[in-house]
Amino acid sequence: MSATLRVCALYPELMNIYADRGNIAVLRARCEWRGLGFELGASSLGEALDSCAHDLFYMGGGQDRDQAAVAKDMVATKRDALHRANERGAVVLGVCGGYQLLGHNYRAGDDEIPGVGLVDLHTVRGEGERLIGNCAIETDLGTGPRVIAGFENHGGRTYLGAGERPLGRVLSGHGNNGDDGFEGVLRGNVIGTYLHGPLLPKNVWLADRLIELALEVELRPLDDRMEEAAHASARRAAGV
Ligand code: GLN
Repeated sequence: MSATLRVCALYPELMNIYADRGNIAVLRARCEWRGLGFELGASSLGEALDSCAHDLFYMGGGQDRDQAAVAKDMVATKRDALHRANERGAVVLGVCGGYQLLGHNYRAGDDEIPGVGLVDLHTVRGEGERLIGNCAIETDLGTGPRVIAGFENHGGRTYLGAGERPLGRVLSGHGNNGDDGFEGVLRGNVIGTYLHGPLLPKNVWLADRLIELALEVELRPLDDRMEEAAHASARRAAGV
């Protein structure tokens, strides 16, 4: 156990759509408000990744163009380290484009972008409309059913392999593919989701749970009146 949360942002300048970097600000604040340390590192194009140097690896969303730029690099310079980090229980959180790259690949027409294969899923960019709007899901990260609310905007449709478990059941919105009623992926400490918002400011309970999983600690509650109002507002926006 460490009293410092060591976060690594993957490709922070390329994979940061819809202010996804706000997720990191929330992790920092939730740690510091409790007297826990917080360290932020980054790994971008061409840079190696030390699988032992971080407790939580984070990757936000991106345009198809930026995703294509990072995907090959990620497979070449970070895939093995991410698998090793996962094996020793580090948390890996991917949002939208970052989520898609945790799987096997992302196909758009004749183009195929590789993923790092941490989870058994693939994504296809079909002819259909983009899946856009407020979204809420019900999930259980080991502490009973909870709601995650956010905003999704993706052209890709994600399909989980047979043995894979979704992050949650869609209460409102499109989810992974607009079809099967599921959203995201959850395997051990690997979490992928389409939900922006940013995700963690609208769902601070999830930020706390990620810190708990990453550090193997139990966190004391904070005065979350403002944060709970933000969560309620995101739920209302999704009609839940
Ligand atoms: N480019 C991906 C898609 O449209 C991811 C988009 C995003 O991260 N918002 O499916």
